[in-house]
Amino acid sequence: MKIGVLAYQGSFEEHALQVRRVLQKIGKGEVIQVKKPKDLDVDGIIIPGGESTTIGQVAQKMGLLDPLKEKISQGLPVLGTCAGAIMLSKEVRDAKIGKKDQPLIGVMDASIIRNFYGRQRESFEATINLEEIEGGHQRFVFIRAPAILKVWGKAKALASLNDVIVMAQEDQIITTTFHPELSGTTIVHEYFLEAVKR
Ligand code: GLN
Repeated sequence: MKIGVLAYQGSFEEHALQVRRVLQKIGKGEVIQVKKPKDLDVDGIIIPGGESTTIGQVAQKMGLLDPLKEKISQGLPVLGTCAGAIMLSKEVRDAKIGKKDQPLIGVMDASIIRNFYGRQRESFEATINLEEIEGGHQRFVFIRAPAILKVWGKAKALASLNDVIVMAQEDQIITTTFHPELSGTTIVHEYFLEAVKR
């Protein structure tokens, strides 16, 4: 199993660490950094948190955005966290400035609002019920997090916090608005690698 982590900006090292931890438990596999189209020869890819505008612009400049979109549309499993969840959604708005054009992958039937929690709660921790993926209750950190306002079509909500969706899935596309890589539990990465195995 070869897992790629989009490695321009944001918490890609932490994701790689979590994936390695899970791979050690379940057998073998490797993690590589993805920066160029030629790095896309992977079985699954993670788009980390960071700044979605920056990640999108760099991906476009490197010629990666279109081939990545193509691969995901053809079934490449992907985990997008925070900024990564923004990149994957079809509808993106910013809480402060409304609609803004930014390069997106835009493959998931989801509407997401950037910087939803505003200034006072730019960063917070919360306990999330992950029973839907048999993950129990887990503490996660939210950093200038977006909110998934709605999903439609084949996309479904996997977890919510105060009626706001924080984890969603459409086929082999999984998104979280929190940072599973900055947590003691590897449950979200395990769930993603299950999807890769299938
Ligand atoms: N606020 C960031 C954005 O809009 C996302 C924050 C994060 O990934 N931690 O892209």
